[in-house]
Amino acid sequence: MKTVLVIDDDASFRKLVTQWLSGAGWSVLEAADGKEGIHLAIELQPNAVICSLLMPGCNGFQICRSIRERAGVIEQPKIIVTTGSVYATDRRSAIEVGADEYLVKPFKADDLIRILDFGQGRRPVAASAPRPPVTAYTSLPTDQPPRLKFWGVRGSIPTPGPGTVWYGGNTSCVEVRADGEIIILDAGSGIRPLGLALAQEFNDQPITLTLLITHTHWDHIQGFPFFIPAYSPHNKVRIFGYEGARKGLHSTLTSQMESPYFPVSMRHMPGNIAVTELSEQEFRVGQVKVTTAFVNHPGVCVGYRLFTSAGSIAYLPDNEPFQRLRSQSGGQPTADRVEALKYASEQDQRIIQFVQDADVLIIDSQYEDAEYQSHVGWGHGCVDDVVALALFARVKQLFLFHHDPDHDDTQISRMLDWARQIVALHGDTLAVDAAREGMEYVLNPAPKS
Ligand SMILES: [Zn+2]
Ligand SMILES: [Zn+2]
Repeated sequence: MKTVLVIDDDASFRKLVTQWLSGAGWSVLEAADGKEGIHLAIELQPNAVICSLLMPGCNGFQICRSIRERAGVIEQPKIIVTTGSVYATDRRSAIEVGADEYLVKPFKADDLIRILDFGQGRRPVAASAPRPPVTAYTSLPTDQPPRLKFWGVRGSIPTPGPGTVWYGGNTSCVEVRADGEIIILDAGSGIRPLGLALAQEFNDQPITLTLLITHTHWDHIQGFPFFIPAYSPHNKVRIFGYEGARKGLHSTLTSQMESPYFPVSMRHMPGNIAVTELSEQEFRVGQVKVTTAFVNHPGVCVGYRLFTSAGSIAYLPDNEPFQRLRSQSGGQPTADRVEALKYASEQDQRIIQFVQDADVLIIDSQYEDAEYQSHVGWGHGCVDDVVALALFARVKQLFLFHHDPDHDDTQISRMLDWARQIVALHGDTLAVDAAREGMEYVLNPAPKS
């Protein structure tokens, strides 16, 4: 006689199922909690286990995992998870951890008996439905001048509220349209409204776009699970970035979408998503040449420079000037310290060269000078240094970016005024703005002389 183990903390449910299955010729074992159930499943090796998903102490996911981990040690039973949850994500998670079937309560005796009697061993895994082919890429008009638009300008964490209405509270995301390409710089929470705008603009037309990730701190990737174009099988989403300090780029992006944090895994996003870890510091997105430079920020973080047909855009959302950090570290002017400062100066020089003559520089300007003193080593810059960098590098347009979550609109405007004063004191023509959600900037090709 075949044996089935019913694990459920609901005594009346166990009684009902026992009645059904005894009548159908099964020998029925019962367990009132998960731990006892796992013990019985391993000791007595029933042909099937019916376990409730949500029970105090030990849930159905844990039961599935515990039993499946014993592969080769015990005869593996068919496992049916029973639950009141109709969420597709719970069904997927249960199957992923080893359930063969998932039955939503209330169900009928016939449903359960049919599943128990069907076949031997585990249910074969259904092949996933083939994805529709990506139709030809609809080229964007190339006759329009390259331009950019800010969708998220905040650092560290989204900050909605009355104090941030003018500059915006979404985290880093900048859209660049250039030479037939859509290039998105970072996937902070600003990528959510960008995704909605793209979906509206393209309607049912396929979208091909490239997402460049500077680093995987959460404020630069947290919007991706809410990026609507990644949910359409007609779209193509290419993601480029560098391997992080502990995990690969792909693994970091997928782990923020794992079941405890988000209901849809990246694997189940229907958009054609390709993640490429970069090893080179120069590559192309269509006609746009892209160069990268490692910047001074905890972990692996880069800045990007995009060379469009009408000028270049440098994007360094998180950066703490090397020299300033080392000089603030204190200590006597020993030979070692002088050497350290020399090294820091060379590193800053490298960043200046990277952004030299850029038409647009978007850069981390999180702090005022006085604030920076108590944030040395946090990985972010201050306005004074950023303006100096832009002046040295002969940049044309500077955007203060990665605004501090504690700064309201008034303070950011004050920092902008100060930045413009520094430029005026130098008698320079550098244009300065504080990046603001919804702000657009069009690059104009320089007239040929
Ligand atoms: Zn950041
Ligand atoms: Zn960061």
